[in-house]
Amino acid sequence: MDRNMRNALAGIMALLLALAPTGCSKEEKTPEPDAQTVTAAEPEPVVLEPAEPAVGIGRVMPAVVVKKNRTICIDPGHGFYDNGTGEGSYFPEGVYEKHVTLAVAKFLNQNLIDRGFDTIMTHNGEDIPEYDWDGNWIFNPNERIAFINAQEVDYAVSIHVNAAGNPDACGVRIYYNDNSYKWNDWAEPAAETIKEAIDDTVEITAPTTADDPSTMADSNFAIPRETHAASSLIEVGFCTNVVDAENLVNEEWQKSVANGIAEGIERFFDSLEKP
Ligand SMILES: [Zn+2]
Repeated sequence: MDRNMRNALAGIMALLLALAPTGCSKEEKTPEPDAQTVTAAEPEPVVLEPAEPAVGIGRVMPAVVVKKNRTICIDPGHGFYDNGTGEGSYFPEGVYEKHVTLAVAKFLNQNLIDRGFDTIMTHNGEDIPEYDWDGNWIFNPNERIAFINAQEVDYAVSIHVNAAGNPDACGVRIYYNDNSYKWNDWAEPAAETIKEAIDDTVEITAPTTADDPSTMADSNFAIPRETHAASSLIEVGFCTNVVDAENLVNEEWQKSVANGIAEGIERFFDSLEKP
């Protein structure tokens, strides 16, 4: 072969070598996806058409109430032959503690139902309860405690009216018992939340409580002490204080204090759902 052909051949060989894969050539890597910049395609939001309202003659669909899955027991203090306090107080003639506790308890019951709670009342003031735990029916706190403990309740509240020799004593008092044999430690924080809700929502006009409409205290009352569920005894005001007494027999105010208690119970149980 002549020189030109050799040169041409060498050129072809060089070209072939250049094209041939070499041992040290790196495999091409697929670039790592950058987590910061790669975005998955957003799924199209599913737009649900509102369901057609159920059609029926004269049928009104109730507003949807979200169930709380919590049962609250409401105990209207006293009742029936037991008037409670009120004699010689600023209550009108014939009005006693039992009338006020029953009225507030019924408003509280409805308010809690409207908020999605299940409720039980120890009595409704009309039908004498059938339960009889010791064969000798006395509608005393022990009977009520036995009744409450026989139910599966998450919280119990007993409604009462206060009385004091000092006519300046006034306002709402929330009593819990911190040393009770509870299945949980809700008693004090629940009482505190109810107190805050009452302060936030209830207009209490008695002069000495203007700055602190309600107070809470650890106490030895039987219901907060003995119920298995966390509970409180709430004295919604003093019949021996002229301003409180006026509030206590006022239906709008009864609704308002019932709403404050319900608001506190709801806030407390809502706070448990959120860690
Ligand atoms: Zn009482």
